Amino acid sequence: MTPKTAVIIGASHAAAQLSASLRQEGWDGDILVVGDEAYLPYQHPPLSKTFLSGDKTVADLYIRPAAFYEKNNIRFRQARVTAINRAQQSLTLDDGTSLAYDKLALCLGARVRKAGLPGEQLAGVHYLRTIADVQGIQPDVVAGKRAVIIGGGYIGLETAASLRKQGMEVVVLEMADRILQRVTAPALSAFYSRIHREEGVSIHTGVSVKALVGDTRVERVVCADGSEFPADLVIIGVGVVPNVELAQAAGLDVDNGITVDEFACTNDPAIVAAGDCANHFNAIYQRRMRLESVPNAGDQAKAAAASMCGVKKAYQSLPWFWSDQYDLKLQIAGLSQGYDRVVFRGDQANSRSFAAFYFQGARLIAADCINRPQEFMLSKKIILDNIVIEPGRLVDESVAVKDLLG
Ligand SMILES: Cc1cc2nc3c(=O)[nH]c(=O)nc-3n(C[C@H](O)[C@H](O)[C@H](O)COP(=O)(O)OP(=O)(O)OC[C@H]3O[C@@H](n4cnc5c(N)ncnc54)[C@H](O)[C@@H]3O)c2cc1C
Repeated sequence: MTPKTAVIIGASHAAAQLSASLRQEGWDGDILVVGDEAYLPYQHPPLSKTFLSGDKTVADLYIRPAAFYEKNNIRFRQARVTAINRAQQSLTLDDGTSLAYDKLALCLGARVRKAGLPGEQLAGVHYLRTIADVQGIQPDVVAGKRAVIIGGGYIGLETAASLRKQGMEVVVLEMADRILQRVTAPALSAFYSRIHREEGVSIHTGVSVKALVGDTRVERVVCADGSEFPADLVIIGVGVVPNVELAQAAGLDVDNGITVDEFACTNDPAIVAAGDCANHFNAIYQRRMRLESVPNAGDQAKAAAASMCGVKKAYQSLPWFWSDQYDLKLQIAGLSQGYDRVVFRGDQANSRSFAAFYFQGARLIAADCINRPQEFMLSKKIILDNIVIEPGRLVDESVAVKDLLG
């Protein structure tokens, strides 16, 4: 029998796991990863944290060393795939060549959402998604100079913390009436506002940026209400959009991501998708969703690799996330959307360590745990095992975390 060829498009978190899992599942044909960046798969979370702050180098970011891929006979090719021809099971690359596949994995990820502001082309204005983006930002990071961050989501706030650490004067501009509005409860927004202010970051909410102004370099940020912020560096962090166009043009089902089932299969039996680009049905929350996180990319990639090998392994992990800012390690278990009550264990108003538990009726659906790893582990268990626990018991700090379920 002719050995089969698996091609993975995209060379990041999902692809790194998927290629390794293919070998673990017994795929003995070729594995070729086609990615358009100049690097082996690397970790993205440090980009806005330790890599931006200069505490990590490119070499520290690699998910696996080159030797791992060589040993497992996983090949890489740097190119951009411009078309999928499903009838012929082949791909067109931007260098004009084509490639045949027997099984195809789409690990296309997401790209930054462009704000479309006048002046975005000025020197000193950046987005942050890749190593190349951070390398473009780094020369503009100068102690004492002024940075304006547009967008008060996790990446914007992590970036603020990293720049502050490097001695920049930092302003965060957020359009909503509180930072982190899309992802967390008001008390958490208030907590992070307090911390950033304590660290010397100036946060402005309810501010709509109108334009970036300067001669060749950005000099100031102008807002719709007429306010202006001087800027030597501007970083725009207003979310991402999934890379679905390739799949859409090939006739695959797309709806806020490439539509897949719990086995990461698309509507073409030869094609799977995983990671930021995929929209899956989540059995725990009983709805479709597209997640943007490293754990999601890894766990979904495992299901996708199994499917490519003809094995059914459902992706049914609990969504979880993290964010590092200053000395704060936030770990988020589950998804809080739709909560009707939030209770706190610890003092969110004055301390730097507490857990927020989100309930929907009697059910715990999510927890934000700041410097509280034990509460994070406990929350994952409660949510996954559907354990009913009184909110009053969770907040009672006289009961040790290990005894809460006792
Ligand atoms: C600054 C930053 C901080 C983050 N922090 C955290 C964190 O703390 N915790 C967390 O869980 N997650 C974090 N994330 C999110 C996390 O990095 C993503 O969820 C993860 O990278 C998704 O992996 P992926 O493989 O699905 O896609 P991506 O990492 O987006 O990779 C997709 C790759 O495919 C390539 N590609 C796309 N189209 C083509 C094509 N046609 N041909 C060839 N190549 C193509 C892209 O260029 C890219 O290299 C962070 C992300 C960023 C940017």
